[in-house]
Amino acid sequence: MKKLIFTDNTELPVGTMYGIGQNYDKHAREMDSKLQRGEKIIFIKPSSSYVPDGGTLKLPSISNEVHHEVEVVVVIGKECQNVSKENAWDYIAGFGVGIDATLRDLQKYFKEKGLPWAIAKGFRTSAPISKIVPVGQFVKNKNDFEIELYINGELRQVGNTIDMIYSIEELIEYLSSIYDLEPGDIIFTGTPEGIGKLNSGDKLQAKLIDYINGNTYIDLNINVE
Ligand code: MG
Repeated sequence: MKKLIFTDNTELPVGTMYGIGQNYDKHAREMDSKLQRGEKIIFIKPSSSYVPDGGTLKLPSISNEVHHEVEVVVVIGKECQNVSKENAWDYIAGFGVGIDATLRDLQKYFKEKGLPWAIAKGFRTSAPISKIVPVGQFVKNKNDFEIELYINGELRQVGNTIDMIYSIEELIEYLSSIYDLEPGDIIFTGTPEGIGKLNSGDKLQAKLIDYINGNTYIDLNINVE
C-alpha cells in the first residue's frame, strides 16, 4: 500500500482520493462549463495512482492529450461524517500540492457520450502529490494559499485559494455529507486556469505558497515520461 509522507516524517496510508471539478471560475470558463450554481463535479482516483515527490508521471499510450492541473491537496486526519464547514479544520491532517493529471481527449469523449471519467482521471500515475505539511504548521482556519506550476522552469499556472468557488471547509462539509472520510483520504480541490498539455521529458515543479508572506511551504518535483 502506498504511503503519504509528512514533512515531520510521519506517514499515513494513501486513502480514497476525491477530485473537485471546475472550482475556479476562470478555469470553469476555459472548460466551457455548463454547471448551474450549486452543482458540483466530484470524481475519484484510485489510491494506486499516487506518485510521491521525485517520481514519474507516465503518459499512457491511450491518450494524445494529457493535461496538467495544479491543485491544493488536503489530507484528512480523522474519520468524519456530516462535518460542518465551521468544524472542518479539525479533521484536516495537512496540506500539500498535487497534479490532477487528466486525459483531456478521453475526458471530452466521455463527457459527450455521458460516460464516467474514471479512466481520464484515475489512470496509473495520475496523482503526483508533494510531501504533506502537518496542519499544526498553519494558523487555524487560514488557508491563504497560492499554488504555482512550472514546466521546464517556465511558470504555467498560478492560482489563489481566495478564488475558489467552494472553500476547502465547504468541500469537507459537502464530501462528508455523502462519504465516510477517513485518515489518509485526499481532496484535490480544483485547478486554476492555464491547464495545458504535457510532453515526455517535461520537468514539473509545483509549489504551495503562503500568499501573505510569499514563503513556500512545500514543493513537488515530477518527471514526465
Ligand atoms: Mg482537477
